[in-house]
Amino acid sequence: MPPRRPDAAAVFPIVLTFGVGARNPAPPGRGPAWGRGTRMSAWGLGTADMGGVEVAVLAVFGAILGSFANVVIHRLPLEVSIVFPGSRCPHCQVPIRAVDNVPVLSYLLLRGRCRSCGGRISARYPLVELLMAILTVAVWSAFAGPLPRMAGLLFAFLMVVITFIDLDHQLILNRITYPGIAAGLLFSAAHGQIVPALLSAAGAAALIAAILVLSRGGMGGGDIKLAALIGAFLGWPGVAVALFLGFMAGGVVGIGLLALRLRGRKDAIPFGPALAAGALVALFWGEAIAAWYWP
Ligand SMILES: [Zn+2]
Repeated sequence: MPPRRPDAAAVFPIVLTFGVGARNPAPPGRGPAWGRGTRMSAWGLGTADMGGVEVAVLAVFGAILGSFANVVIHRLPLEVSIVFPGSRCPHCQVPIRAVDNVPVLSYLLLRGRCRSCGGRISARYPLVELLMAILTVAVWSAFAGPLPRMAGLLFAFLMVVITFIDLDHQLILNRITYPGIAAGLLFSAAHGQIVPALLSAAGAAALIAAILVLSRGGMGGGDIKLAALIGAFLGWPGVAVALFLGFMAGGVVGIGLLALRLRGRKDAIPFGPALAAGALVALFWGEAIAAWYWP
């Protein structure tokens, strides 16, 4: 094996993880249910076998995925086709030309405005594209093998889409969670981890359902299915870390909104986005965080 050279590919994940143990070899057996033993390192994201070109290609692919995520976020709750018609300006309804529809770049070149009417385009579009680009490179770098990488990428995509639809509509769609749960179980089964994935999905759903019954509010039925989806993908201990972080984040945000009087005591806190954010952290660092509590 030739000596590893420090190139862009090696630097990027290290920057991403603040350099925390990016080169630690992964202990055997680590990883989500669909990728047990394929995690490249305990804390870092880094595989050193990614070249600069590979990182660039993945980032572009991820940005295109992010562009698709924007369409899904925008159109799926409205029950309109996500394929036709093409993207239009939200202000003047003029179809957006292909040259003006390049992820991230078009937004920067047009300075966040529509070419025809000059109306403001939300900065969220390029941010979602950028987020998916980063997550794509991160997943590729964190896991080995085509199937685990596809599973990780699908999971990251689902978490991003669910987060923004929930923020917009306070809704977690069955049309995302049901196929998502099935996909998570299939990927986990393909990796010989169907039992932990099933137990994690059922356990997480039961826990959220119990909280829902006890608290009578704050969360909705969609959160139960989201928890099952996270369990189906992450398995144990990832699902526990995701729920724990989700409760922490949801609680902090909820208390903050109350304190700032942005929300009343009766309003729902955005628990779905908190849970999804916790799940993304658990995707990359689940076992490492779990090891703090169950060494
Ligand atoms: Zn316009």
